[in-house]
Amino acid sequence: MSSKEHAAPDETQSIPEEEPETPLETARRQLDSAASELDLDPNIVERLRHPSKVTQVTIPIERENGELETFTGFRAQHDSVRGPFKGGIRYHPDVDAEECIGLAMWMTWKCAVVNLPFGGAKGGVVVNPKDLTEDEREQLTRRFAQELRDVVGENRDIPAPDMGTDAQTMAWFMDAYSMQRGETSPGVVTGKPPVVGGSYGREESPGRSAAIIAREAIDYCGKDIEETTVAVQGYGSVGANAARLLDEWGARVVAVSDVNGAAYNPAGLVTHEIPTHVEEPEAVTRQGEETISNEELLELDVDVLIPAAVGNVITEANAHDVQADIVVEGANGPTTTRADEILAERGVTVIPDILANAGGVTVSYFEWLQDINRQEWSLERVREELEEKMLTAWDEVREEVEARDITWRRAAYVVALQRVAESHEHRGLWP
Ligand code: GLU
Repeated sequence: MSSKEHAAPDETQSIPEEEPETPLETARRQLDSAASELDLDPNIVERLRHPSKVTQVTIPIERENGELETFTGFRAQHDSVRGPFKGGIRYHPDVDAEECIGLAMWMTWKCAVVNLPFGGAKGGVVVNPKDLTEDEREQLTRRFAQELRDVVGENRDIPAPDMGTDAQTMAWFMDAYSMQRGETSPGVVTGKPPVVGGSYGREESPGRSAAIIAREAIDYCGKDIEETTVAVQGYGSVGANAARLLDEWGARVVAVSDVNGAAYNPAGLVTHEIPTHVEEPEAVTRQGEETISNEELLELDVDVLIPAAVGNVITEANAHDVQADIVVEGANGPTTTRADEILAERGVTVIPDILANAGGVTVSYFEWLQDINRQEWSLERVREELEEKMLTAWDEVREEVEARDITWRRAAYVVALQRVAESHEHRGLWP
């Protein structure tokens, strides 16, 4: 580890030149920066710079050609002072332990900012899921669940979908865990299909929360949603749901993209006619609209930009060219630390991921409540309760923005960190 990673928590670090940044480095910088805003016990901050536990497992599966192949999986558990660990599982070739730790830290803050009784975790398997058949993905998931059996559980650590995993993955995970345990345990994972204990509205929830937060940000910046233009990078579950809702609420969505590029129409796209990545993968650029590149989308002269694809897309190289007034982070970590500083200097309002996409884990919490209480909530109830949670979180973060004259990211961290640090103070260190 570099000395930078061990810097005192009260040092606000500014990197002079952008180097490739891991999610763990970003997460630690953000923690140190927020901690410097608060008069926190440095011992608590030191604890929060590290994960509570990281589990690494080997997952052997028999490929369709009869050969055995091994995959590596991780589960990083960051903090559980406020409740069971919570966070997604991603299947992606770039997954590593450090990435999982950084993303687990983000989950701790995300749960705290919306005041859920959960801590933070993240896991993953180093694999491109598209390289496996469905049967192989099932085997991989069941064996991963088996290997993680001792560290997960409905009161211990509750996984959920993330990049490369979906409701079916969660159903296999839940089934493998339940079969070993001898009892159906739907509360061990969230994001399942509703018929096996999933929640209505879970799939749309991160996109819905990004849209709610974008709507509030538009209003806060004194704009009328009917006169607002929006560009959305990524047309998967987060991007498509956010784009469609903002379109429905009167905004003009002028560009949406997938990995192949972006559909662009200055007069506005009919978003519900563009199939999502789930409905028809990579169909965005086949829509007969003018096409532009993903890089061009990020630099469009729009009011609101929603990066909802992958991490680190707004960097030092393009932050000066972002023309949007408001950036709402739909993806986890789309803005690098240096880019964040540039956007702040330029007066661009950046609403952070831990607030904007927190609807996903919020509805996961509703799902878990339904599971452990053997209940089923209507879609209407889920949407209403999500709206309420998001508006409360928005107001709490807004109060910190106004009281301290700080960015929305710093304010969201302040709200989250205060809750987590206070919980640590009350519980104390033991044994
Ligand atoms: N993977 C999602 C996230 O990054 C959801 C996590 C969850 O529902 O536990 O927020």
